[in-house]
Amino acid sequence: MRIRAAVLRAPGEPLVVADLDLAPPRRDEVLVRITATGICRSDLSYIDGKWPTPLPIVLGHEGAGVVEAVGEGVSPRRVGEHVTLTFSPACGACRFCLEGRANLCADAAAGLDSGFLRDGTSRLSWDGVPVHHLAYVSSFASHAVVPANAALPVPAELDPTLACLLGCGVTTGIMSVTRRAGVRPGDAVAIFACGGVGLSAVIGARLVSAHPIVAVDPVPAKRDLALRLGATHAVDPALGDPAGQVRALVPGGVDVAFEALGRPEVIDQAFRSVRDGGTTVLIGQPPMGVKAGIDVYDATQFEHTVLGSNLGGAVPALHVPLLARLAVAGVLDLAPLVTHRLPLEAIGEAIAITASGDAGRVVVVP
Ligand SMILES: [Zn+2]
Ligand SMILES: [Zn+2]
Repeated sequence: MRIRAAVLRAPGEPLVVADLDLAPPRRDEVLVRITATGICRSDLSYIDGKWPTPLPIVLGHEGAGVVEAVGEGVSPRRVGEHVTLTFSPACGACRFCLEGRANLCADAAAGLDSGFLRDGTSRLSWDGVPVHHLAYVSSFASHAVVPANAALPVPAELDPTLACLLGCGVTTGIMSVTRRAGVRPGDAVAIFACGGVGLSAVIGARLVSAHPIVAVDPVPAKRDLALRLGATHAVDPALGDPAGQVRALVPGGVDVAFEALGRPEVIDQAFRSVRDGGTTVLIGQPPMGVKAGIDVYDATQFEHTVLGSNLGGAVPALHVPLLARLAVAGVLDLAPLVTHRLPLEAIGEAIAITASGDAGRVVVVP
């Protein structure tokens, strides 16, 4: 079938929205009509060439949609199902899946590297030339063929512009708090950088009754949004050392600090805002090869834990439908996260807004 999709041909070039061919779903795959897709900073890293990827490729890894057709081996009852797509569908057999760490699934990592679906081929082509898939998702498009277990059922009443965020940013932010760090009621937390992921960490901290919840961001609108979503205090890094400001609010330092940007100097600030024996969680991802420094004396003497977080340690098939249920029930208020909604034809603008750092989440509606 013919679809509309945004293609990256070479790093540094703008995406090109074009008509592509999409082959039907094969065994254990489904065809999904994309109803909304978020733009994650990881997509920008591929566009900039900061992360290598096979080319040409259809990017987008934060998609929601409706199942339109199924391949062999998939129940036809799934047609019409509302879904959120995940880039980490569990293979169920690798050591990570067996350990309950499907976010690290070796098969999903292989799919990300190859740019193909599980059988080693692509369903996408442009004028007869194969085009790669991104992480089994490729949601910057009107339609996508994905592994059947990468399409996770979500309630039909969930707004697709919110459902798509569960594919990456929202799940990463919330689960970094609730699962990866295991924040408990009354824990003091600080969240450094309040983009889509950092704001989702604020939502997660509120969800588990962390207190206080300190949001750190240089952009006034993002600090205001953080306060609206549950932060109890907001810190402007321009007014002095952010770690010192956090410590002035929480004497001794916070129990857990989250860094949602991936900048070495901000990682250092997060680390220095944490109490003795506390934890720093690294969520933001810089270009490959970027190193950050921490004070090793402090880390050892005061038994400071540093955790990396990929998708918040979530098991997507378990936690995405769970978060979707909480959003429908009104327990999670995700709507304020989406600051911009644009059509697929305006994806260049959507990417520029995301890159500016001034937005919450920018969502493209094909
Ligand atoms: Zn992402
Ligand atoms: Zn696996």
